[in-house]
Amino acid sequence: MEDFVKQLDPTLDVIRSESDGESLTIYVASNRPDLYCPVCGQRSKRQHCTQDRTLQDVPFEGMKTRIVLRSRKMDCANPDCTCKCFSETFDFLQYKSRMTPRLINLIREKVRDVPPYKAAVILRKETADVGKSTLYNLLHRDEDLDLQLQLEESIFYRQNSDI
Ligand SMILES: [Zn+2]
Repeated sequence: MEDFVKQLDPTLDVIRSESDGESLTIYVASNRPDLYCPVCGQRSKRQHCTQDRTLQDVPFEGMKTRIVLRSRKMDCANPDCTCKCFSETFDFLQYKSRMTPRLINLIREKVRDVPPYKAAVILRKETADVGKSTLYNLLHRDEDLDLQLQLEESIFYRQNSDI
């Protein structure tokens, strides 16, 4: 499990995990000793608080997996800096993303081989609970125009079949 987590970011450590046999939650935090202010670049050791971010990840040993990522909020120690407080960031994660990049890749791979209107159902069964709108956004940002068109067709199909 350590390796699974360190593939996301080598500085991440597993704090603990919980499983009911079908789904798994892994609590992680980074072991970086020093964090640097994004504005002035000064090292900060003054921790303000922590904030947990929950991310969906690829399945681990057949279980749907969530990562609870502990992010530190730090005070900038430089009195001349305009930044008073900053959050620990992670290179592997886009701002406000709720999914790991490897899950996004896996979803795109899986959806490529199935009719799009079935994608959410198939993903929910074995991969991750992904809503239709999230799926649409994921694929809509994809540069693969065919996928977008297929999905739009399936939404059209859905809307019409609901009537
Ligand atoms: Zn600063």
